[in-house]
Amino acid sequence: MIRFAGRNLQTLGSRVRRSRLASTLAFVETTKEGAIVPSSLNALAAAQQLGNNITALLLGPQATSAASVLKSSVQCTKLNKVLVSDEVKYEHYLPEKVTPLLVNLLKDEEYSHFVVASSAVGKNLLPRVAALLNYQPVCDITKIKDAKTFVRPIYAGNAIETVENTQSMALVSVRASAFEAVPEGSSESAVIEQISLSDGSTDLDVQWQSANLVKSARPDLSSASTIVAGGRALKDKETFDKLLVPLADALGAGIGATRAAVDSGFCDNSLQIGQTGKVVAPELYIAVGISGAIQHLAGMKDSKKIVAINSDPDAPILKVADYGLEGDLFEIVPQLTDKLMQARK
Ligand SMILES: Cc1cc2nc3c(=O)[nH]c(=O)nc-3n(C[C@H](O)[C@H](O)[C@H](O)COP(=O)(O)OP(=O)(O)OC[C@H]3O[C@@H](n4cnc5c(N)ncnc54)[C@H](O)[C@@H]3O)c2cc1C
Repeated sequence: MIRFAGRNLQTLGSRVRRSRLASTLAFVETTKEGAIVPSSLNALAAAQQLGNNITALLLGPQATSAASVLKSSVQCTKLNKVLVSDEVKYEHYLPEKVTPLLVNLLKDEEYSHFVVASSAVGKNLLPRVAALLNYQPVCDITKIKDAKTFVRPIYAGNAIETVENTQSMALVSVRASAFEAVPEGSSESAVIEQISLSDGSTDLDVQWQSANLVKSARPDLSSASTIVAGGRALKDKETFDKLLVPLADALGAGIGATRAAVDSGFCDNSLQIGQTGKVVAPELYIAVGISGAIQHLAGMKDSKKIVAINSDPDAPILKVADYGLEGDLFEIVPQLTDKLMQARK
């Protein structure tokens, strides 16, 4: 057990050292269309486990409409307030723009916990907020033991650490795949409030320019219930597509890849799963020609059922697999796809 001691806040003065009210500020991300990003629903479920009343924070031009969606579509019994700011500057969640507001909200004693999903946005915001408040964040938690004690993987998932937070506030990011999302329903008793607080920021010369996103009709990796992932053994992009796309189509699955496959140009790097890619935990994960390096396992070993297709009986992936198909993927994958297609008829 590691203890994060209360080493905080020479800079913000003694006010912050006093004990805080038990309440949680939960950062909720939305898409630009105003939908709630799924990982934020997992983070809300984690926030609920803390047992405090929850204030959700939604930012950007779609914040007020997304707040209504949140209230009417999810059941979060601890949610009693939704803070919103529709200011355009919060669109795209540029950390230089959002961090000053978060620091202002968190520096008073109102909140004992700040919770954010361990998404790209959360990973961008949390260290900045923590550094400015002089707190040690607790990143990527997978379990909450109590309001002060958290479990998280370290060393690419090779060790599990229990952390006790003895600071007056816990700043936590949540590994989405480790928590079930809050269920559908409604949280109608929550009140929506516009943020009146100024974020006190000076106008930093940081502007969002553009995003180059890969569009795909496939399920998003973070929410897909089945994932077919390919490794270096697939040889090239053409073979990767020729073998994995029909298999994924037959299963209605998302497609993932190892870093070796991404680096070899078989597919876009948004499909990379692992320590430096996405962390997933689908119902079914089919690993095709993947050795099972620890950096890859770090991103998928919590999948509910793992099937590995590999010609090497000693491949490490077979140690975590529920089912291993030993053999040549160039024979097995087309046969499996055919069988699945026939079963669907
Ligand atoms: C700091 C760092 C971070 C990293 N982050 C990631 C990460 O996020 N994600 C990630 O995936 N990797 C990551 N890596 C890379 C990782 O260490 C491995 O190199 C990579 O995962 C290997 O990919 P692979 O399994 O596709 O290839 P290989 O290790 O080459 O494995 C290929 C497998 O295919 C099998 N095979 C070959 N031919 C056939 C066939 N015809 N039929 C069936 N099976 C066959 C082989 O037996 C072998 O097991 C990282 C590495 C470092 C150092």
